[in-house]
Formats: sequence, C-alpha cells, structure tokens
Amino acid sequence: MAVKIEKAIVGYKVITAEEKANQEEAAQKAIEEQQDTLEKVHENLDRPELLLGSTYKVKTPMSEHALYITINDIVLNEGTEHEQRHPYEIFINSKNMEHFQWVLALTRVISAVFRKGGDAIFMVEELKAVFDPKGGYFKKGGKFMPSLVAEIGEAIESHMKMIGLIESDCLDAHQKKLIADKRKEYDERQKQTMAEEVAPASNEAKNDNSSSAFPADAQLCNKCNVKAAILMDGCYTCLNCGDSKCG
Ligand SMILES: [Zn+2]
Repeated sequence: MAVKIEKAIVGYKVITAEEKANQEEAAQKAIEEQQDTLEKVHENLDRPELLLGSTYKVKTPMSEHALYITINDIVLNEGTEHEQRHPYEIFINSKNMEHFQWVLALTRVISAVFRKGGDAIFMVEELKAVFDPKGGYFKKGGKFMPSLVAEIGEAIESHMKMIGLIESDCLDAHQKKLIADKRKEYDERQKQTMAEEVAPASNEAKNDNSSSAFPADAQLCNKCNVKAAILMDGCYTCLNCGDSKCG
C-alpha cells in the first residue's frame, strides 16, 4: 500500500528483530487467551435440554424404505461473534430393520466422537470411503454412492457444510461459465454427429437416461463421483465439479 507523506519527517526508528518478535508473541498470546475463554465441546459438557437439529432423508435402491438421518447440534458461544454450531448427536431411523444392529452401533460411535469435541470432519472422509462389497449404486442425478455407510457420511458432510464447519465447495461464476461453455460445445457436437449418422437407436438410448442432468454417455468423475465427465478433444472434463485434465 502506498502511503503519501505530507509532513516533514522529523525522526524515525527501526524496529529491531527482537522487538518484532516480542510484538508477534504478544499478539499470538492474545489470540490464545481469547481462544481459551471460548466455549468448546468436551466430554463433561452437560447436554442442554434443547438442541437444534436437521433431518436428512436418504432413499437408496437397496431398500424400499427411506433412511432418516437426524443430526442435533449444540450452540457454542451463543450470542457472540464466535457463535458456532457443533454436531452433538446423530440418530438414524428407518422402517427397514435389516441393518438395525450396526446402524445403531454406528450412530453411538459417531455421537461419542461428536461429544469428545475437536475436529470431527475426518469422520466424513472415513465414512465416505467405505465400499460395499456388493458394489454400491447410482443415485438420481448420476452420483455414485459406494455404500450405505458412505451415504451417512454424505449426510454428515452436507450438515457440516450447512452449519459452516466445512467450507462449501460452491463453484464460482468463472467455473460455472466454463462448465456451461463446455456443455454447449459438447451438445452441439453431439447434434452434428447424430445428424450425420441418422441413427434412431442412439436417440432412444439418450432418452433412456432422462433422470440424469448430464449426457447419457458421460463417464464417472473421479473427483466428485458423478457420472458427468465428458470426453472432448482427447481429455475428460466434468460437467458437475469442473475437474478437467485438459491443457
Ligand atoms: Zn466431477
């Protein structure tokens, strides 16, 4: 930043390395002291009578009954600028009792981790990385779900995004435009090849996958697990998250 000096300079002082270090140390100490006074989740924290929560409905092709995942939060430092919701307990409900035993066990363990305090975000990645030996399934919209456990991890993740514990990975305007441009280009090329081939069979195949917003022949994106990666000019671009190996 440029500072315009309007008065005559009558004296100056050079800050020594030691003074600078002292200042930084003092600033750091002040931050730590403030952190110490903030409310945190720990094992001995009493459960308040009332907790705020959200319930997520999860429908899978594995069962005709939906799964309802409820996550309740404790509000820390309420009314201050450091107000923050922290997950406190999780419940899972379903008419389907097939998985009851391990689902109950899982909710108890997850709740215990929440109540221990500290960073619980690692759990999202752990759960999402569980693969069902039967092979997983595609959800509406083309997202691949490797297991029911991953589905629970996904629900916790979207909850953590909602309460601001995990930064939401919303695409910025630039990325959105990039994806829209790619999509347009792809659709135009598809139209051309179809006009050339005059193949009614491929037309039918296209209509087949109407539940997905992405082209029917899109491949699974390794980054976001959605069937949205299209091949153009010899490289894949994901129309969902924008991940691209091109150029
Ligand atoms: Zn992607």
